[in-house]
Amino acid sequence: MGGRIALVSNCLANQNAKVAEYEVCPGGMVPLLQLLRARGFAVIQMPCPEMTFLGCGRWWQVRAQYDTAGYRRHCRMAAGTVADALSQAGGCTDLVLLGVDGSPSSGVQVTDSGADWGGRPGPREVALVPGQGVWIEVLLQVLAERGLGRPRLIGIGSELPGYDPEAELARLDRFLQGAEATLPEIGEAPPPAAVRGRAVLVVPQEGFADPDVLALAADWGLLQLPGPEAGAALELLADQVEDYRRHGYRVAGLPGPGLAQLNAELSRRGGAPLSAPGPDPRG
Ligand code: SF4
Repeated sequence: MGGRIALVSNCLANQNAKVAEYEVCPGGMVPLLQLLRARGFAVIQMPCPEMTFLGCGRWWQVRAQYDTAGYRRHCRMAAGTVADALSQAGGCTDLVLLGVDGSPSSGVQVTDSGADWGGRPGPREVALVPGQGVWIEVLLQVLAERGLGRPRLIGIGSELPGYDPEAELARLDRFLQGAEATLPEIGEAPPPAAVRGRAVLVVPQEGFADPDVLALAADWGLLQLPGPEAGAALELLADQVEDYRRHGYRVAGLPGPGLAQLNAELSRRGGAPLSAPGPDPRG
């Protein structure tokens, strides 16, 4: 890969990974992915630590509920796959990481906190507080331990009240061009509601550089295939395909390097191979 690399939170390309009701578009954030491409960033899509731990039917939780030894162990394993992908990319001149502010896992500058969470799901008090989510904390530790340096960090504010996609894109663009990440605006209005597409498309590693593939993200959440010698990354991807299928989501795959490996892993687990997407993700 070389050049500029962006480590991208899974849900920025695949809103199906969100806790229900937190999606802001049906598939992936197409303008954000197009901006990364326009600024010359190769994308490494990170696994969603919550989705791969609790699945796409999980409840909303606050940071303290995820701050357990078991979840940290899971994050450490998943972070190892990000470190592997970065090592295989063979160095870069600019490494950025796009988290999601407000998230208990992926918050960069803002995470959440609630004192009285647990037990029967229901409305609880929650506060936005400065700080990193559990996943970002563990991921940065793992990258440092592997000698991969510290990326420049920004948290996209799509979970925050007052989220304005256009203002956020402009903030991201300033950051990609070298500026320090400013704090996201926090307003009053809830983020814009959207209905997730319940359609997931597995794409080749280079798919994020292909404008035709990025256009598909209007309807499909994109999941990136890992490179060769993927090991745990391939298993995590197969876990996600299984979970989405179990919940009745449509999952398809674009032909390309790595799809045969994933299909072999799915059939080893007793699942059907991925077929090519039809024209209608709901079809
Ligand atoms: S913010 Fe992080 S944990 Fe939450 S859905 Fe996105 S990738 Fe998963």
